[in-house]
Amino acid sequence: MFEEILPTIFRITIPLPGHPLKTMNSYVILSRERSLVIDTGWNRYECVEALLDGLELIGVNLARTDLFLTHIHADHAGLIGLFQKNHAKIFCGRSDMEFMDYYINTSKPKDWQSLRKLAKPHGFSDTEIDAAIDTLTGNRYAPDYNDNIIPVEDNDIILVGNYKLRCIATPGHTLGHMCLYEPESKTLFSGDHLLGEISPTISQWNLSDSNLANYLASLDKVAAYAVDKVLPGHWDAFTNCRTRINETKAYHQCRNAEILELFDDEKTMTAYQIASCLSWNKKHHEWTFFPISRKWGAVADTLSQLCYLRDQGVLKMNINQHHVTWSKKNRF
Ligand SMILES: [Zn+2]
Repeated sequence: MFEEILPTIFRITIPLPGHPLKTMNSYVILSRERSLVIDTGWNRYECVEALLDGLELIGVNLARTDLFLTHIHADHAGLIGLFQKNHAKIFCGRSDMEFMDYYINTSKPKDWQSLRKLAKPHGFSDTEIDAAIDTLTGNRYAPDYNDNIIPVEDNDIILVGNYKLRCIATPGHTLGHMCLYEPESKTLFSGDHLLGEISPTISQWNLSDSNLANYLASLDKVAAYAVDKVLPGHWDAFTNCRTRINETKAYHQCRNAEILELFDDEKTMTAYQIASCLSWNKKHHEWTFFPISRKWGAVADTLSQLCYLRDQGVLKMNINQHHVTWSKKNRF
């Protein structure tokens, strides 16, 4: 399924079977010289079929097409290999490119087990970690090839047909996340930085990262642009960019308040225990009934909030031999 959104700019809807968001948007900018595809879908049959069907109907010649990745999550970058085979230039934010190098480069072993070291101190059992490594879609449908990727920086310009696309570095959802801005039509290709109906996940395992602080700064950065149309990575386009930015910031403020309410002066909890007390998807009322992939994401999201509250001087992070726990910071 595809539609023309602006002259020579198309959206192909890529199915994501089993993914809570159900679909991903692959955008195509058609040009007589070299066309550009923005994001691809997972590395699995249903996605490649939808993408190739859409490209054919639009009239894209893969031999004269380049690829831009808003970020490196497998539902956006899974089909790099398809473009690589056709000698495409592949553009991606530098930090995401380095992350992909670490996990996927064929010269290194696939090291998903390293996730165990990151997740265990936060309260997961070994059984849950084993189940997560087996089922996480980022693991199963990741790209298998990533040579010759061209890193893009903030404010780089990519010319495609009559369009002049500005790269906007928007770290938060991933460290190397990039939006594209087209100034004539005031269009923002927002990837997973800004979505129309939900707040993108902001997650982290590395305790020294500040993903939520980065993300909130990236929201402010995008708010400075005049945007008439947002083309997000999932679901429909929308026009109320500033409103969505404010709503997304408010979501994180509420989330922080909800976390702080769980603490009294004495209480110490792991991120897993904290996540199990928060309000998540209404469809799964009970934490116990969450599928492991949902628990995994919920704990990583909670960690980004906790690190933010730590950096704000509100919570204290306690690290011992086995666990990382959180408590209220005593004020004197
Ligand atoms: Zn993503």
